[in-house]
Amino acid sequence: MSGTKCTRLTGALMRQVLESVDSVLFDCDGVIWRGDQAIPGAAEVINLLKKNGKKVFFVTNNSSKTRKLYADKMSLLGFNVTEDDVFGTAYCCAMYLRTVCKLQGKVYLLGSNAMKQELEAVGIQQTGVGPDPITGKPADWANVSLDPEVKAVVVGFDEHFSYMKLNRAMQYLNQGCLFVGTNRDTRLPLEGGKAVPGTGCLLQAVEAAAQRQAQTVGKPNQFMFDCVASQFGVERERCLMVGDRLDTDILLGSNCGLKTLLTLTGVNTVADAQEHLKSGRPERQGMVPDYYVDSIADLLPALRE
Ligand SMILES: [Mg+2]
Repeated sequence: MSGTKCTRLTGALMRQVLESVDSVLFDCDGVIWRGDQAIPGAAEVINLLKKNGKKVFFVTNNSSKTRKLYADKMSLLGFNVTEDDVFGTAYCCAMYLRTVCKLQGKVYLLGSNAMKQELEAVGIQQTGVGPDPITGKPADWANVSLDPEVKAVVVGFDEHFSYMKLNRAMQYLNQGCLFVGTNRDTRLPLEGGKAVPGTGCLLQAVEAAAQRQAQTVGKPNQFMFDCVASQFGVERERCLMVGDRLDTDILLGSNCGLKTLLTLTGVNTVADAQEHLKSGRPERQGMVPDYYVDSIADLLPALRE
């Protein structure tokens, strides 16, 4: 807006930015909660934004929950939210296959029950959820039985990921199936600085085996925003994206021409953003937010006025 990037959002500037937007998109983990704990003040921020007439949406790359499960979790934490406000990659991936790919046929799914449910909700059948134990020898694996109705391989978070699943995905992809991934986050951050491997690791394994690149639907791909905008008529120039990660949340906002706000309760720091800024490299400027706050609770004084 002012031409100065990565500015602390406070006082009059904060009121000005809030007045300049009608819609606010929030990432979830590291922004409104950490694990099962709400960020202090986050519920009040969301509820006041809505009370002040703003449209509020949640865009998360996590594919392990349905919209309904997210809305239930948010309600428990005191957020005034319905499932229509939630855009997780389980749902967005199903929408992508339906509306963009116009998929005719089944999905071979490396993913969760939540993804299975979201696919079924848009009329797409799947095979593959759950464990797939290995038997036989390599010659058997190369001739593993495949469902002829499968026309797409979809990779999301799959706690049962295994060698046989990797093999089966490769065999389907060798036949020319569509190849779609939920997201490329390589780590799932946990409390206390810990982390576990994320969907991006599984996706890279499948890409390496199949020697093909997947199309991903999650942030920073614009499809997440398109999904929200097509249903709720969000105006880019009057929309703010709030997130804790520069390479997914902030880059999505930049890719879509939204205002961007980094919150420091999650993955990235102001120093990370300034490094991108100072690099002078054009391809890194999309990861520099317009503004930052220590926590979204910093918005409270302006919202209470
Ligand atoms: Mg996050």
